[in-house]
Amino acid sequence: MEEIFDIANAFDILQSEKLEGDVIFHVTDEKTALLKNAGDMVVRTADGQTAIDVYAGDEKTRDRWRKTGGKIAAWMKAHCPKSAGLDCGPADRRELLVGLLLGAYEFSKYKEAPKEVCGPLSVCMDKAEFDEVKIICDAQNMAREWAHEPASVINPWTLSDRAEAFAQVYGLNCTILDDEQLREMGAGAIVAVGQGSKTPSRMIILEYPGTKPGKPVVLVGKAITFDSGGLSLKTVAGMPTMKYDKCGAMAVFGILRAAACLKLETPVTGVICAAENMPDGGSYRPDDILTSLSGKTIEIRSTDAEGRLVLCDGLTYAQQHLDPRCIIDYATLTGACRVAFGTTRAGCMCTDDAVFSGLFASGEKTQERIWRLPTDEDYLEPLKSPDADLKNSSGAREAGACVAGMFLKSFIHDGMPWAHLDIAGTAYHMEGSAYYVPGATGFGVRLTVDWLRGL
Ligand SMILES: [Zn+2]
Repeated sequence: MEEIFDIANAFDILQSEKLEGDVIFHVTDEKTALLKNAGDMVVRTADGQTAIDVYAGDEKTRDRWRKTGGKIAAWMKAHCPKSAGLDCGPADRRELLVGLLLGAYEFSKYKEAPKEVCGPLSVCMDKAEFDEVKIICDAQNMAREWAHEPASVINPWTLSDRAEAFAQVYGLNCTILDDEQLREMGAGAIVAVGQGSKTPSRMIILEYPGTKPGKPVVLVGKAITFDSGGLSLKTVAGMPTMKYDKCGAMAVFGILRAAACLKLETPVTGVICAAENMPDGGSYRPDDILTSLSGKTIEIRSTDAEGRLVLCDGLTYAQQHLDPRCIIDYATLTGACRVAFGTTRAGCMCTDDAVFSGLFASGEKTQERIWRLPTDEDYLEPLKSPDADLKNSSGAREAGACVAGMFLKSFIHDGMPWAHLDIAGTAYHMEGSAYYVPGATGFGVRLTVDWLRGL
């Protein structure tokens, strides 16, 4: 199973003290007649040696260095030199390397192997700094790789197997609750979502103890391994990409891996809420009334509003059993959030100003940006149900991201610091961007690791 943790990039990126290779990249921020726009390259060839100047542009942001790294990675993939070296020039080396490592990733395991082997690319920089950035980006690329796996490969059961192997490799404690145990415990919401699937729901708890004892930061991840909508079936156009409905939980795996490898001080616990939402004779139905782990009853209006159901039991479990210092949840929760913020920012609902400002600052720094959603009680109004404590969906389009967030908030105990990240827009995009090929981005890994290190 080792190969599922060692995610190979399209070419290797190595740390080096010396600048060498068939191709040498020189990063520059000096504008010339030929280097006018960010990403422009001038290629010079002499005696079998190629030198390439890469213009980073004049934007005063960290992200220009990541974009430059992405540009170099794209060139490497397209031209496939035997070896290459990188002179970082005036760049922020850390961020240039982030762009390279994220840019070098692609999901290629089901494709014919390329005829030529590219690289490696040697980067002239300090070894300790290189190793640290590589740990974080490798963890993020693993989150992306796992997110790309189709539902025929990752379902709640195979995900539990992965989690067990993962816990062994990274030295974590792992507890897996199957649907029987969840039902007995009273977690009727997460159980209902998975009951139409051949592989019923699981809750996976992964604990990284930290190097300084204390209460853990608990990360709750949505892992709908495939979302067909259930009996409230999605349309033909709405169903492809629904393997990505597990991206929140994949980010949690990535964060735990980075936390363990970096030996972070803060204890971090992941709660993975895994279910496959399928239509079947055994499926849960609209009008069903579920009893969640909290004791609150939920009337089902749409079986396609299932993420909040698996999460509400995960959030309750965390508060009942894990004594969290604070809770962050990660979920591709609402199309409404994607409509509101596109792929640029994740929506964040938060009950604690200090937690929010910390996450916000880390978002700006890492370019995994967030924006705050309101928590007015008014947004709970449309979830009032005549027959149960609340409904799982309002059935209306208004304020979809806020209403879904408030549904989750109603399971958070008073005084518990909690942040909800709706990553429906940022977790994957099918156009790709400067340092992401189309598909999963691993959003949340760099953001959270940066925030955890500052705690
Ligand atoms: Zn759904």
